[in-house]
Amino acid sequence: MSSELCSECASPLVRDEVGLTLKYFGTYCSERYCKKCLAEKLECTTKQLDEMVEYFKSTGCPLFT
Ligand SMILES: [Zn+2]
Repeated sequence: MSSELCSECASPLVRDEVGLTLKYFGTYCSERYCKKCLAEKLECTTKQLDEMVEYFKSTGCPLFT
């Protein structure tokens, strides 16, 4: 399976970043963002995004398993 690239800066994305994009922008959204670009769009820090990933994992969200 080929890895997806950030729609903004073309960095290769890890699964958690794809999961975050789906979580914040919805599965209908064709854009995918890396953590750095997501943080800019959401006006938060990448550390906060890491914490959100941990939170979503703890809820058993299938996007982050
Ligand atoms: Zn990016």
